[in-house]
Amino acid sequence: MKAVALISGGLDSLLAVKLVEEQGVEVLPLHMVTSFTGRKDPAFVRDLERLYGVKVHRVVDLTREFLPLLLDPPHGFGKNMNPCIDCKILFLRKAREIMEEEGASFVITGEVLGQRPMSQRSPILRLIERETELDGLLLRPLSARLLPPTIPEKEGWVDRERLEAIQGRGRKRQLELAKKYGWEKIPSPAGGCLLTDPAFSRRLKDLLDHLPSGELPSLRDMDLLQVGRHFRLSPGVKLVVGRKEGENAVIQSLATSRDLLLMPRGFSGPTGLLVGDEPQGELRMAASLLARYCKGSGPFTFLYRGRNAGEIEVSPLPPEEVDKWLII
Ligand code: SF4
Repeated sequence: MKAVALISGGLDSLLAVKLVEEQGVEVLPLHMVTSFTGRKDPAFVRDLERLYGVKVHRVVDLTREFLPLLLDPPHGFGKNMNPCIDCKILFLRKAREIMEEEGASFVITGEVLGQRPMSQRSPILRLIERETELDGLLLRPLSARLLPPTIPEKEGWVDRERLEAIQGRGRKRQLELAKKYGWEKIPSPAGGCLLTDPAFSRRLKDLLDHLPSGELPSLRDMDLLQVGRHFRLSPGVKLVVGRKEGENAVIQSLATSRDLLLMPRGFSGPTGLLVGDEPQGELRMAASLLARYCKGSGPFTFLYRGRNAGEIEVSPLPPEEVDKWLII
């Protein structure tokens, strides 16, 4: 008997794999990632095997499929820009597809009843099952004994009595299980999702509000949202300012010939990137904003390059002016 499992790398999803594996089922763990959640790096995947004996079968990047959900998620957003119900539906549809490809018989998740306000309530779990056409084939081993029996339980592929009845946000039982499996390092809860972060959500909302109607953000847009301070200078133009050396390097690597890249000339200071339509019109303002984050009172000279190249000397914008443009 074979099953696929969705694993975030957090404690619950790893335990769900173990609870089913120890009943003799071959489990194929799938790690779904997007620009906002999950980790693709080989070190992360290696650690899951080394520390917890969970060998990731496939890492699946669903960013492209996920982006349309940001414009109009059929089941709405959570507290921030997190369309959790639709996100779970997307991940599970993909899991179902892989289940069929692999000749597996059911899907496992690490969901715990009542742990998250929006997506882990009983009616929502049922809705997700229906919409993914996984009726009866979605096993949640950590809460299974509190939920109606699934096909794997009814058919005896897994013994329901050996599954768990965990609900709510407490982690006592999960920690007991981790101890039973001899896990010395407890995996951190699911690695986080940028869409639940209020500051990131505000930047994302600003981006979506300023895209032409129906246009999706690009993958580059998503990468840029994750670095620096963001300033909305006009409906069509935004400035991103690096906060430290590493961010300056990322900003430089994300610049295209349509943008204007600003760098300090002959001194160490922040890199800025003007993105959008006709960024040249905002050049002076952008340089003055950038100067605000340089040491000293100026004036400062910045080199710029993009469609045009040159240099510009400016004085820093007063602090109260800076706040007017900052996306917070
Ligand atoms: S928190 Fe993020 S990754 Fe998790 S279900 Fe919600 S949108 Fe998806």
